Amino acid sequence: MNRVKTYEQTGILALSDLILPSKKQLEKGVAILECIQEIPCNPCVDACPVHAISMKDINAPPVNNYDLCTGCTRCVGICPGLAIFVIKIKQGKAYVTLPYEFLPIPKVGDTVRGLDRAGVYQTDAVVTRVVRQGKTMVITIEVPEQYALEIRNIQV
Ligand code: SF4
Ligand code: SF4
Repeated sequence: MNRVKTYEQTGILALSDLILPSKKQLEKGVAILECIQEIPCNPCVDACPVHAISMKDINAPPVNNYDLCTGCTRCVGICPGLAIFVIKIKQGKAYVTLPYEFLPIPKVGDTVRGLDRAGVYQTDAVVTRVVRQGKTMVITIEVPEQYALEIRNIQV
C-alpha cells in the first residue's frame, strides 16, 4: 500500500508514509512515531506514562493517540530505532526533540545544522534542551515553524 511504497522506493520516509498530527495537536506538542516496518519491538508502548501508544500485536507498527499524548518526550530516548520525535510549535517556531547518538554532544544555546530525513542541510537550529536518557542524548532544537515536519537530525 502507499504507506510502505514511498519508503520502499527511496529508503527515506516521506510525510505520506506517516500518520501526522493536526496543527492543534502540534501546538500542544506530540510524539511522531516514524516507525512503519513490521518488527518485533515495543519499548515505546511501555515507556508512555499515559498509554498513548498502542499496537495491534508485537510486530505491528506503533500508533500514537495524539489526543492522549502530552509530548513529555519520555519515549524519544527509549526507541532503539531512533524513530521517535516530539514536535511542538509555538509562536512561529518549531521545537523538535530528537534522539542523538553522535559526538560531540551540543550544549544549550549552540547553533547547529538542521538536517532532513535524507541528511541534507535545511536550516540552522538552536539547541534549547539536552538530557541523557540511558546511552542516548535527547536534544531539543528550535527551528522556524515551516521545518517542524522536516528536520529530523542535527550536525554539530
Ligand atoms: S511523548 Fe510522552 S505522552 Fe507522548 S507518546 Fe511519548 S511517552 Fe507518551
Ligand atoms: S520502540 Fe521505536 S522501533 Fe520499537 S516499535 Fe516503538 S517506535 Fe518502533
